[in-house]
Amino acid sequence: MPKLIFASKNSGKVKEFRAFLAPKGVEVLSLLDFKDVPEINENGTTFEENSTIKAKTIMDAYDLPVVAEDAGLVVDALNGEPGIYSARYAGDHNDAANNEKLLNNLKDVPAEQRQAHFVAVIVALKPDGEKLVTQGSVEGRILDAPRGKDGFGYDPLFYYEPMQKTLAEMTVDEKNAISHRGKALDKFAEQFNTWWEA
Ligand code: IMP
Repeated sequence: MPKLIFASKNSGKVKEFRAFLAPKGVEVLSLLDFKDVPEINENGTTFEENSTIKAKTIMDAYDLPVVAEDAGLVVDALNGEPGIYSARYAGDHNDAANNEKLLNNLKDVPAEQRQAHFVAVIVALKPDGEKLVTQGSVEGRILDAPRGKDGFGYDPLFYYEPMQKTLAEMTVDEKNAISHRGKALDKFAEQFNTWWEA
């Protein structure tokens, strides 16, 4: 069976991605399957650059097709922060500290100026150089206190007007139907065969 590496150590994301590609007859490996994974130097200035750096580093190490994803929160009133620094805004992958810092930095900003969006960029690369990039985003507003217990990251602070809920008050299926990641993945699914067979 042909193999592909999904460049993530997040077992939840890996599981979803594997389920999505299994019907296509592709074996999905992830960074959980390798020892001595090379350090990934995410020093790009955009989500696409960082996602490409991730994909290229892993592809060069293992000589297999790779799919990488980078995502984050962009807040208008903070000139786009936390952006590419979303995971390490206050502490590395410390959701509570990151959320607290976000609330603090927005404490004098009124509700109508708290627009934000999540962005996800998926980059797929093959050793022959064939590249596929897809993107998704979702618009919302940052609340002044968390709501909901599901999800991760900034979900409890991100209010999605059409459903009158934060992302942390949605079921997984509800979130996937409207989320940045869900949309990027839908586009990736539509274009996968063309990229894979090119
Ligand atoms: P990643 O690239 O998907 O690992 O996301 C980087 C960081 O952006 C995460 O650590 C979160 O802080 C934030 N983030 C990305 N997607 C989401 C989401 O769907 N909900 C909440 N936070 C997110």
